[in-house]
Amino acid sequence: AKETGRNKYQFYSAKFVEAANRRLLLEQGLRKALEEKRLKVFYQPKFDLHLNQITGLEALLRWNDPVLGNVSPDEFIPVAEETGLIIPIGKWVLEEASRQVLEWQKMGYSDLHVCVNISSIQFLQNDFTKMIEQIIRENSLQPQSLNLEITERIALYNIEDTIQKLQHLQQFGVTISLDDFGTGYSSLSYIKSLPINFLKIDRSFIKDIFFNHQDAAIIRSIISLAQSLDFKVVAEGVETDDQLRVLGEMGCNEIQGYYIAKPMASEDFSKFLEHNLVK
Ligand code: C2E
Ligand code: CA
Ligand code: CA
Ligand code: CA
Repeated sequence: AKETGRNKYQFYSAKFVEAANRRLLLEQGLRKALEEKRLKVFYQPKFDLHLNQITGLEALLRWNDPVLGNVSPDEFIPVAEETGLIIPIGKWVLEEASRQVLEWQKMGYSDLHVCVNISSIQFLQNDFTKMIEQIIRENSLQPQSLNLEITERIALYNIEDTIQKLQHLQQFGVTISLDDFGTGYSSLSYIKSLPINFLKIDRSFIKDIFFNHQDAAIIRSIISLAQSLDFKVVAEGVETDDQLRVLGEMGCNEIQGYYIAKPMASEDFSKFLEHNLVK
């Protein structure tokens, strides 16, 4: 028994060292990737079920490291947040996405908007709204071409501050999405007080919507709540035509997911637009 106890300890400590090493490699790699401009932004279309067309796109970070290979944002974003690297990285994504959507608008897709994921660490910076306004001005972007995707987590700190910042941004003209809706802690009454334009329902609720009556009932009530509060609803992770049909019948406004397209590099997205969106 003593023997297994020690082995177990060694096993755990080996795992710990491994995790710490990985964490260090990620931090160093990420720092270097930012410096050497090796991060990329991919784009995934957002499809409006009523207009029957692409109306926007979401910017999603991609990192291919020479040593670590492709690292998922679900793994490196938390590291970027813990180290503060999310501040320069997040700013870079905003600039890159703004520049890119402007390019597509100039090609004739003038109504496209881009959705950028905003970490709560970024949002909580004092100069966050100033930075957004500056990026918009410097790129001569129409403010309504930029949508900021935030999560419920930002409002855990100070709801009053959060509401004020969001109102300020909306007055300036940018729109706000509440991302990953349904996975957090927020009550519906709390959502009511947030000034947002879109509510994005998390993929986990969409997955079984066609088979699972409970999930379908949840989605239905989210959609009716959103309608009464004047938010648009976006369903994430739509992979089948059955899901699309059910969501359409429920009055969902927009969908995103592999059924429409996977996230793509900008060159591929340009080709995608050529085939799927009238100028
Ligand atoms: P998210 O904001 O919820 O983004 C949606 C995720 O679902 C993306 O994963 C996307 O590739 C994936 N997805 C889209 N459609 C489907 C589908 O039909 N099926 C399945 N299985 N997956 C689908 P990704 O690109 O790996 O990003 C993961 C998360 O990393 C994002 O979740 C977001 O929270 C974070 N992230 C990505 N880029 C950024 C960024 O620039 N800044 C910040 N702060 N976070 C980011
Ligand atoms: Ca998102
Ligand atoms: Ca999401
Ligand atoms: Ca997510």
